[in-house]
Amino acid sequence: MDPAIREANERMPGYDEARIAPRALATEAVHAGRDDLARQGLHAPPIDLSTTYPSYDSRGEAARIDAFATTGAEPDGPPVYGRLGNPTVARFETALARLEGTEAAVAFASGMAALSAVLLVRASMGLRHVVAVRPLYGCSDHLLTAGLLGSEVTWTDPAGIEEALRPDTGLVMVESPANPTLAELDLRAVAHACGSVPLLADNTFATPVLQRPAEQGARLVLHSATKYLGGHGDVMAGVVACDEEFAGRLRQVRFATGGVLHPLAGYLLLRGLSTLPVRVRAASATAAELAGRLAADPRVARVHYPRIGGAMIAFEVHGDPHEVIAGVDLITPAVSLGSVDTLIQHPASISHRIVDADDRRGAGVSDRLLRMSVGLEDVEDLWADLDAALERAQGATAGRGAPAAAVGH
Ligand SMILES: *Cc1c(COP(=O)(O)O)cnc(C)c1O
Repeated sequence: MDPAIREANERMPGYDEARIAPRALATEAVHAGRDDLARQGLHAPPIDLSTTYPSYDSRGEAARIDAFATTGAEPDGPPVYGRLGNPTVARFETALARLEGTEAAVAFASGMAALSAVLLVRASMGLRHVVAVRPLYGCSDHLLTAGLLGSEVTWTDPAGIEEALRPDTGLVMVESPANPTLAELDLRAVAHACGSVPLLADNTFATPVLQRPAEQGARLVLHSATKYLGGHGDVMAGVVACDEEFAGRLRQVRFATGGVLHPLAGYLLLRGLSTLPVRVRAASATAAELAGRLAADPRVARVHYPRIGGAMIAFEVHGDPHEVIAGVDLITPAVSLGSVDTLIQHPASISHRIVDADDRRGAGVSDRLLRMSVGLEDVEDLWADLDAALERAQGATAGRGAPAAAVGH
């Protein structure tokens, strides 16, 4: 919890830490990060747009800056400067940590800024080697492969993680379900294979509604909050949920490199979290129904739908995937995911374009694969749109293919 909020709480009569201890996810989603509001006579969280914070006590402020430089703990009392921390953003961080079941969370300007900060924390400790499992989100793959931040990556399959570890390995990185194939990993087994090396699990696709990687041994849980956490396609953000020690280092890197989240984005994300469980469950039910229909459709070659469920579907068509994209009307042909409306894209052309074609195909991202992020529309309207787009794609290629494979991998 933000120390300022904790302090305000503790001054309140009747405050009881136990009263805000473990609550169900749906309850946390609407209350976490807002525990102090009612006692302050507020309902909606205030948006603090200050970039700087006045203090007549420069000795005290110096001590607080020293404390931040030592541990990265959020300064007690008001923040010093917007890059050190912001109370509105802190509310979102508190809430996300509560949902992921971690001590802390640190928000950034985007998912890639969040991943960059993790890599910089480890590099600053001389631990530049990363072990990673494909597929990852295209730009995460690129960041590691290109070594832009001085890291060196070894790609392996989950069974090879232990063997790939070196004395200078600072991180193991996985996604499950992975973008874009929805391949799943046994996170507990992967965490075990990592030994003392921190495991970073990108939980963007599952969200804490479906999976809490920290409970399975991941030390770092990454989100592109641009996706489900924001949930409405109007915020770019990233966040890392982790223990307080790592969070301190992340805050120090954020302070030094400047990838901060804007307070308005922090506000929108906190609001997004309050409907996260409802949105994810509703969209998942529709996605499961659509995945079943696609799997039974002779125009579809293969459907990937995760065992843990979710609102993402990946499928391969017999026809031309570009014609499916060109043929949708209700569904929006766009990269990104996790919005209230349904989006579809062709990973080989867009989200994973930046990955070398052979590496991409080797990771199961075929040139026929389409990735769909199912939103909150009516299932029959979505199916009618998909059906028309599939028909168009089928018409563009001669002949009918084999019946679809069953749902799964
Ligand atoms: C989009 C995405 C990212 C990158 O996040 P941005 O907010 O776009 O920087 C990282 N991981 C996954 C799984 C994603 O889908």
